[in-house]
Amino acid sequence: MHCQSCGHVELHSIIPLGKMPLANALLTEHPSHELRFNLEVMLCDNCGLAQLKDIVPPADLFSDYVYFSSNSDTMLQSAKNLVDKISPTLAKDALVIEIASNDGYLLKNYINNGIRVLGIDPAQNIAKVANEQGIDTLCDFFSTELAEHLANDQQFADVIHANNVMAHVPDINGFIQGIKLLLKPNGFCVIEAPYFADLVEKLEFDTIYHEHVYYFAVKPLKMAFEGHGLSLFNIEKIALHGGSLRLFVGHANAHEIQPIVAQMIQKENESGIYQHQTYIAYMEKLNHLKNELTSVLKKLKHEGKKIAAYGASAKGTTLLNFFSIGKETLDFVVDRSTTKQGHFTPGTHLKIHAPEELLHQNVDYALLLVWNFSEEVIAQQHAFIKHGGKFILPLPEVKVIS
Ligand SMILES: [Zn+2]
Repeated sequence: MHCQSCGHVELHSIIPLGKMPLANALLTEHPSHELRFNLEVMLCDNCGLAQLKDIVPPADLFSDYVYFSSNSDTMLQSAKNLVDKISPTLAKDALVIEIASNDGYLLKNYINNGIRVLGIDPAQNIAKVANEQGIDTLCDFFSTELAEHLANDQQFADVIHANNVMAHVPDINGFIQGIKLLLKPNGFCVIEAPYFADLVEKLEFDTIYHEHVYYFAVKPLKMAFEGHGLSLFNIEKIALHGGSLRLFVGHANAHEIQPIVAQMIQKENESGIYQHQTYIAYMEKLNHLKNELTSVLKKLKHEGKKIAAYGASAKGTTLLNFFSIGKETLDFVVDRSTTKQGHFTPGTHLKIHAPEELLHQNVDYALLLVWNFSEEVIAQQHAFIKHGGKFILPLPEVKVIS
């Protein structure tokens, strides 16, 4: 194995989670055979990039059930705030391109501000929804070839957005090269990705699933961009997904580099995320958390409580399967997404219902698998809580919310 970013051949296994089902591969019925793949994070000794040992081809990973961004109010608001900040700085003839534009949840804000957009998304059903809503969307994977094709058509971008997609693309160098090709001389790219330092610090191991090939920190990304004549010139830390990076990238020397870039790298070095021994303690903490959560659930079940889970998310697949929590404890899972309802969860084969079932079936406790949207979910589920329902937060320590 070699590092997918810098090519170095010395990588160390840091977070081995074992054989896991594909996180978003919801089932239509109880299958006799379900695919499982090794899920293991390696750390590059040279550039410090955390990456999966085994990569499942993207074409096998994408299904019709990948989540629509518009289902999350928190993400919608975050996207609108960002667009409203950038829009006034753009010229009238500006073009904004979004990679993995989903249903157009972000780009529609630019359209409302009178700015031309182009979305790129590989999921056919989702690209179709976007086009129907008037958001010009190409149905394709983003790659160097696609970028060359757009560049030949003189489709250069003033701004490129790439939210929660770069970590999914195995060909990281092709992805960065594509950005380089498409950016106007003074253009910039805004990239959002969950922050690896938060994954380590807050025990957010369930952010690890096969779709996420990379777990980004500032040091390896800065190096990767510089290798393509780009420069990471600013960073914002945002609260989304348990702690994310919002990275601002432009052509080398086109933007003044802010002190936060060096400051964050120094912090990363001091925190120990580039040292192997950090992960020996990490795996011990994970096993401790597993024991704690399973014994809390077991005790409640023993007391005759009815327990379900909230959020048929990719995170939930990792958490339930790694912790071996399934039908013996949970009656079902609820999810707001109507495309997921009626299906079954990967590995654990729990039926997915609408959130209203928490009340209808008199659930006592709901294990909150989408802890990254905990405030939003708890606010939406006030009726459940009012009727005595309680949420169990699994991370970074087990906590009951009533
Ligand atoms: Zn590397």
